[in-house]
Amino acid sequence: MTTMKDLRTLEVWFVTGSQHLYGPEALAKVAEHSQVIAQSLDKNSAIPVNVVFKPVMTGPDAIRSLCKEANNSENCIGLILWMHTFSPAKMWIAGLSLLTKPFVHLHTQFNQHLPWNTIDMDFMNLNQAAHGDREFGFITARLRLARKVVVGFWQDADVISELAAWTRAAVGWNESQNLKVARFSDNMREVAVTDGDKVAAQARLGYSVSAYGIGDLVAVMNQVTDADVDKLVAEYRETYSIAEVHDRADSIKVAAKIELGMRAFLEAGNFGAFTDNFEDLHGMKQLPGIATQRLMASGYGFGGEGDWKTAALVRTMKVMAQGLTGGTSFMEDYTYSFGDSPIILGSHMLEICPSITTEKPSLEVHPLGIGGKEDPVRLVFTATSGPAVVASLVDMGNRFRMIVNEVNVIPPAEALPKLPVARAVWLPQPSLKVAAAAWIYAGGAHHTSYSQALNFEHLEDFAEIAGIELLRIGKDTTIEQFRKELRWNETSYWMNSTSGH
Ligand code: MN
Repeated sequence: MTTMKDLRTLEVWFVTGSQHLYGPEALAKVAEHSQVIAQSLDKNSAIPVNVVFKPVMTGPDAIRSLCKEANNSENCIGLILWMHTFSPAKMWIAGLSLLTKPFVHLHTQFNQHLPWNTIDMDFMNLNQAAHGDREFGFITARLRLARKVVVGFWQDADVISELAAWTRAAVGWNESQNLKVARFSDNMREVAVTDGDKVAAQARLGYSVSAYGIGDLVAVMNQVTDADVDKLVAEYRETYSIAEVHDRADSIKVAAKIELGMRAFLEAGNFGAFTDNFEDLHGMKQLPGIATQRLMASGYGFGGEGDWKTAALVRTMKVMAQGLTGGTSFMEDYTYSFGDSPIILGSHMLEICPSITTEKPSLEVHPLGIGGKEDPVRLVFTATSGPAVVASLVDMGNRFRMIVNEVNVIPPAEALPKLPVARAVWLPQPSLKVAAAAWIYAGGAHHTSYSQALNFEHLEDFAEIAGIELLRIGKDTTIEQFRKELRWNETSYWMNSTSGH
């Protein structure tokens, strides 16, 4: 069962700019070339949505109409803009000023190589993106528009990869505009970083966040039939390994009922993400463990202790990553191993998504130690090794800030026989010493969205579209430079702040 929608229902529009100066013959060529490029991108499996060719733009009225059409199209998630010839950019002011969909500026040329022996003025007049795209670049800079600029021959792997990353960011942005987050209870009392301005979040990022009493969820749980519980328990037994000591039929039944109830609640309300809080579980016998893990695996975002920002981020990143190798999960920096090569053990009380492992999870029942409820059922596994990112979204009072750390996930040094939770072990770049200091200077949360499918570029493109601050902690980070960046950003956001966020 998945909550994901088919990305092939979404479209990116391929729009080429020109003008009437060159005559109908040249414009026909421009259209022909654009169609070839659009079709080639559409067929490329790296770009997960349809790329739709649009007529060549030659005047301000057509450009404005097209931008309005894009705004109103449910399926259009963004535009690829390219100036094959010179397209006087004042023509673009009206359209771009009202465009609400993101765009990428593709700076390419139909021909890869210069035809040294045959090049003449006709060729020069037709293939002038080199200066046409500079004119267009000026107006996007002059209007201070959010955008990504991709440079290179349209068949080159790096160009495809950069367009693909941006397309996924646009997919994430589209999801964010339509996302509903359900909170079962409020934030954990007195916790700061998981809270924030939900009005600003909706205004800036699009998603709506609503709280529900646990009683509302329990009422749905109580409607779950025994037959459905038995069916889900059978699925657990088929999917996971269960050691005899953990084969506690009553506990497993309770867990299955919680999953079915939560799933029904989230489906009925068309939610894409949710939070819970172990301080408030009235009428529930266990803190949701396996339920939350499996809901995440089927695409829901989740944040523990009422953390709605991380829940929304996990969901957005899951949708962005759809179809890529590697999972995405709610995560928490839990504990360290210092020494020669300091590492982080990431985990949570229970709620780590099994999409981040290729091993068969072990279903286990252990006491929780906090919350005062019955022993919760959970899936225990270790995350697959390889590169990953952890991302945190915090509310700085006048803006949202995203902090991203690039990390390398490694196998645990030893077996962890007594650790009753799913986990990931990683080396943060450039080192734990620098990464953790930078993270703390930036105010990054202990909760993150962890992804092995996405990389920094996906999140960079998303942050650009969303207009939020982005801080990268990676192989080139130094504390000296990072602290300057924090100071400069502070000034920049104060000077440009209009609405608080
Ligand atoms: Mn937590």
